[in-house]
Amino acid sequence: MKDYILQILAGDGIGSEIMAEAKKLIAWLNSNTDINIKTRDGLIGGASIDAYGVPFSDETLEECRAADAILLGAVGGPKWADVEYTLRPEAGLLKARKELELFANLRPAIVFDALVDASSLKPEIVKGLDILIVRELTGGVYFGEPRGIEDLGNGQRRGVNTQVYTTSEIERVARVAFDLAKKRGNKVTSCEKSNVMESGLLWREDVTALHAKEFSDVELEHMYADNCAMQLLRNPSQFDVIVTDNLFGDILSDEAAMLTGSLGMLPSASLGIQGTTALYEPVHGSAPDIAGQGKANPLATILSFAMCLRYSFEQGDLADRIETAVQDVLNSGTRTPDIMAKGCTEISTSAMGDALISALEK
Ligand code: NAD
Repeated sequence: MKDYILQILAGDGIGSEIMAEAKKLIAWLNSNTDINIKTRDGLIGGASIDAYGVPFSDETLEECRAADAILLGAVGGPKWADVEYTLRPEAGLLKARKELELFANLRPAIVFDALVDASSLKPEIVKGLDILIVRELTGGVYFGEPRGIEDLGNGQRRGVNTQVYTTSEIERVARVAFDLAKKRGNKVTSCEKSNVMESGLLWREDVTALHAKEFSDVELEHMYADNCAMQLLRNPSQFDVIVTDNLFGDILSDEAAMLTGSLGMLPSASLGIQGTTALYEPVHGSAPDIAGQGKANPLATILSFAMCLRYSFEQGDLADRIETAVQDVLNSGTRTPDIMAKGCTEISTSAMGDALISALEK
């Protein structure tokens, strides 16, 4: 028996509905495999504001640190839209990422055969697509100083943000990308704007040096981020792992996500240094427009949990089984409303969780 502690932060909106399906899966794994996952529930986002007055309490942070991994639903909603900026639900998520030093955000963009028509690109361009974007998450222009808006006193204001990276920040995220590429297609595309930004030039030089020193057996190519944005639409299958900074990664990972067609299918992982607690969450938000209606697709959360099994629990075989079960469910034609297609049967959030368990039992 292998024992793990999983901290669950369901959050707001559809968070509790999608998490209920993940818990069903965990209960099934505990009964049917040789792992034992103990779950603990905590609050984040609006739910935490309502209970403690802050979006992510220090006590919950300590519980997270003590766990082997964290599975998060989503935060936010209209109820907390007017709360002060630093106390908003989303600030809880930023605090979690910062305090846990989750510097590498992994976002796979996989096109399941059954959903190939959901993409806005032609099926022949996206069929079989399987790319992984590694985005630097704790540095760059979103955190750099100086920042702010100043009044210039002549009716003008000036807004400033600073793009800044150090060698160690670049190396640690590039190392994650190279390590992951070794287990996949063995190719890394590093994206920046070294043609116009010094921080981009440093990024390119440091990635090149690390590659020569530690990863010369992995194919490395450099690409300007704007070209990468174009290539993702022109020929996305040329990519295996893309590594890039916080700003470009934010945009490129959303673009890559849309190649797959459905927000309800997209998982993510945020990793820190090896041996520390990582966080797994669906890419989508709390979907207040469908919360409480049994319409949410739980598969992004379930695929995020599969990433947790792979990266934090070293249970790659179980992760494979869950991903295959997701494919089987999709192939069988049962769909939540967001991925509904002609000839398929529409099912609820909880029926999707049940269908997944049935597929695992086969
Ligand atoms: P959203 O991702 O919540 O919803 C966008 C659209 O996708 C909605 O129509 C929604 O119904 C649909 N959708 C999302 N997830 C779905 C799922 N699992 N199944 C079926 N349909 C799904 O984005 P939004 O509407 O821009 O934001 C709503 C709230 O979520 C805001 O408060 C926002 O700040 C927050 N948010 C949180 C996160 C996070 O927790 N990581 C991410 C994005 C947005």
